[in-house]
Amino acid sequence: MNTEYLQFNEYGLKTAGELIRKGELVAFPTETVYGLGANAYDVSAVKSTFTAKGRPSDNPLIVHIYDKKQIGEIAREISSDAEKVIDVLLPDSLTVVLPKKDSVDSCITAGLDTVAIRMPKSVEARAFLKAANVPVTAPSANISGRPSPTAWQRVKEDMDGKIAAVLCGSPCDVGIESTVLDLSREQPLILRPGAVTAERISDVLCKTVNVLNDPNSKVNSPGVRYKHYAPKIPMVLNVDGNADKLCGYYDELVKQGLRPVLLVEKPSLYGLRSVKSIGDTDEEVARNLFENLRLLEEKYDYIIASFSSKTPFAQSILNRLVRSAGHNLI
Ligand code: AMP
Ligand code: MG
Repeated sequence: MNTEYLQFNEYGLKTAGELIRKGELVAFPTETVYGLGANAYDVSAVKSTFTAKGRPSDNPLIVHIYDKKQIGEIAREISSDAEKVIDVLLPDSLTVVLPKKDSVDSCITAGLDTVAIRMPKSVEARAFLKAANVPVTAPSANISGRPSPTAWQRVKEDMDGKIAAVLCGSPCDVGIESTVLDLSREQPLILRPGAVTAERISDVLCKTVNVLNDPNSKVNSPGVRYKHYAPKIPMVLNVDGNADKLCGYYDELVKQGLRPVLLVEKPSLYGLRSVKSIGDTDEEVARNLFENLRLLEEKYDYIIASFSSKTPFAQSILNRLVRSAGHNLI
């Protein structure tokens, strides 16, 4: 298949919308990461998403909308908590899980009785969704297991020749995937942490909102079980900011004949070793995280990362870093 690279303009949007309605796959920009869009009402289009990504079919997809009115087409029941969250917090990098209507096919929800819905904040994403004029299922536009793409050039790396088009918009501002908030249960529960933190949601609901911390528990978001966000080269993670320990680990790898790189908070502490800044603020770390992993895997053969921020948003970033490092903490 010849993938079309559409510029983000009126023609590009119109073409992208037509392709979606015809049952084709189109990658598009959002504020979190690039999404791989399909018409949520076209079962064969939705199924082709799993094939293009190599995604297991028991990992459900998020349905994207541009107008809150579309929620009624998809969700069967909206609790008073859900109403508050939708009113106050959407649009943002926040996905809400609600009981699903029968019109939502089980291939989207992996057989669950709930559906995940997201209204992006990004103006580009909403313009695309409006042009599509149907709810759009979209996982991240990467090969399953790889770091998510935060620029269209990274979508090209993974998806060229496999999908009809890429809508080439801006690089993603947030850089990590949306918070997934389950509002279909008695107590709201964050299934995947993101930029919209438990604290912010608690403030809106005036109640405690917990974050799922055992991804193997029965109450879960199926997708969080899988290998995720992994660069092609080995990676380890340090969370206490101990530069001496990191230098020791680096020097040992060099002795073994490897070419490691440090992805760290204070690059000046590491002398002449190969080093890259992970970012100075949580926002910068998140924005550049997946791009950094994709850049470093091209030049080096081992990533030693360090991230010691302890803010609520840092916990969401850490969730991705730990998985990128395959849980190898040093
Ligand atoms: P991705 O599209 O790769 O960003 O992943 C989507 C995330 O949303 C995965 O972690 C899914 O498990 C989660 N998700 C999607 N639909 C549901 C649902 N109905 N219930 C719980 N989690 C969901
Ligand atoms: Mg993904």
